[in-house]
Amino acid sequence: MPELPEVETIRLGLQKYLIGHKIVSVQIRVPKIFIGSVKQVVGAKIIGLKRIGKGLIIELNNNFVLAVHLKMTGQLVYRDEKTKRLALSVKTGGEKLPSKYSHLILVLDNGAFLYYNDLRRFGWIKAIRKDQLMQMPFFKEMGPEPFKDLTLEKFKEIIFKSNLVIKILLMDQKRIGGIGNIYANDALFEAKIAPTRKVRSLSSEEIKKLYEAILDVLRKGLEYGGSSDENFVNALGQEGNYQNHTLVYGREKEPCKNCKTLIKKIKLGGRGTYYCPACQK
Ligand SMILES: [Zn+2]
Repeated sequence: MPELPEVETIRLGLQKYLIGHKIVSVQIRVPKIFIGSVKQVVGAKIIGLKRIGKGLIIELNNNFVLAVHLKMTGQLVYRDEKTKRLALSVKTGGEKLPSKYSHLILVLDNGAFLYYNDLRRFGWIKAIRKDQLMQMPFFKEMGPEPFKDLTLEKFKEIIFKSNLVIKILLMDQKRIGGIGNIYANDALFEAKIAPTRKVRSLSSEEIKKLYEAILDVLRKGLEYGGSSDENFVNALGQEGNYQNHTLVYGREKEPCKNCKTLIKKIKLGGRGTYYCPACQK
């Protein structure tokens, strides 16, 4: 699932191409993806792109926004006269767009297209009034997020209030926004904390280390243009590179980068969880 670095990579890419352009039509191929009325979108100009946790907001000049949640396998790919010559990742569903995964297409006034692709079709795009956006449960209930309002103090407070296992807490969007399975695994490795630890057992030094490790792995995710271990592609339909630089995520039975002990994989809260049994206590 795209996490903070992946959604931010898409946002940065789209920002370059979409701002200032008018949406001339919307082609909906799979109705359940789009919520709202196309009338609220057609003719509007795109004036901004924002991200809230794993959610992406396309701001329009008519007091509406398009709120996008990519869920497991959603993609937003921009193609115009120039960028359509770039090779697409096979993860977009074909050599050309639209592909069999293109379920919604925005047509822009410069002849460009924005394709919403989604292999598993769990994602959604909602046209909603700007002043109602934060009433949507997904945004309203989202916890503070790294690089924004998740300060060390706030992080401590969230931890002290909880009785969960640390990895499950990190991935709970209502407690902290933006962290998913990949970066939760790697942050815990960097902080040398076992993913199965109860949060109550963490020392104040461990909490601080974990806080810094979260920022560090997310920053690396951004630097490598996101992780394409699964279906993530950037705004031009190309893959990121973080999957080649993960610390433990996806590295079952590979030697630990610190001590050479083999990385273990377990299931925790239904998700694949990777850790070094020697380094992480
Ligand atoms: Zn180790």
